[in-house]
Amino acid sequence: MSQHHALVTGGGTGIGAATAMALANTGIQVTVTGRRQEPLAELAATSDHIQAQACDVTNSEAVAAAFSQAVASFGPIDILINNAGAAPTAPFHKLTAEAWHEVMAVNLTSVFHCSQAVIGTMQQQGWGRIVNIASTAAQRGYAYVSAYCAAKHGVLGLTRALALENATTGVTINAVCPGYTDTDIVRAAVNNIMQKTGRSEAEALQTFTRSNPQGHLIQPEEVAHTVLWLCQQQSSSITGQAISVSGGEVM
Ligand code: NDP
Repeated sequence: MSQHHALVTGGGTGIGAATAMALANTGIQVTVTGRRQEPLAELAATSDHIQAQACDVTNSEAVAAAFSQAVASFGPIDILINNAGAAPTAPFHKLTAEAWHEVMAVNLTSVFHCSQAVIGTMQQQGWGRIVNIASTAAQRGYAYVSAYCAAKHGVLGLTRALALENATTGVTINAVCPGYTDTDIVRAAVNNIMQKTGRSEAEALQTFTRSNPQGHLIQPEEVAHTVLWLCQQQSSSITGQAISVSGGEVM
């Protein structure tokens, strides 16, 4: 695996950072992108195999520029992890059109921009891996995150269509669908519940752990492990799949 170059969007924190580290630990060259420089630089400082590149994935020009920069130093990108995302909550009747479009832009259109930036080279090289960090929200509905569910279901549709389009090219496209995972997204939601309802941290946390039959949050490293497995040479017959990492929440 060591001759590869992986780019991980939203790679400075949470699942993205765990994935970047897991890839780098196998000797792969890894570019991490995100809007904030600080977490990216901190992660890049931990490994010679990781470089940081600021980039807003909702902006196609910024994606093109950042990806060219990444290629200039680490070579062609043959592994893309579409991980950047955000999950704001709102009851559907209060969801503004602007908020809807923002959620689509960061969770779904970003996958279009980033995949388009790399797919041609992967096809030419006859090998590539695209792993989309979707969610169990791509496989079932959740209340108060309608835009996020719609966007993540869209990611799964895109994954399946691209997998078929690329079936004979050596490029595989899969989705990993974590259940509630112990990252900033869930921690912010726990704090929000505590503030709005006066519940304790343990009570607020139960809102997220009770949907997992195993009764706990998923760890980012568990998601990273699944991504790494999909990137391996021996995983070449796995394409168009939605791998649920959710303690049995989806089966
Ligand atoms: P984090 O908030 O830690 O990670 C999200 C990352 O996305 C951040 O590093 C953020 O960096 C980046 N990001 C957000 N908006 C943009 C943007 N416009 N351009 C570039 N980067 C952006 O949370 P997670 O690690 O949990 O989330 C990672 C992925 O996993 C997301 O797609 C999320 O939907 C998915 N997921 C998470 C679950 C969970 O329970 N935590 C469950 C299922 C799926 P910055 O702000 O610097 O741009």
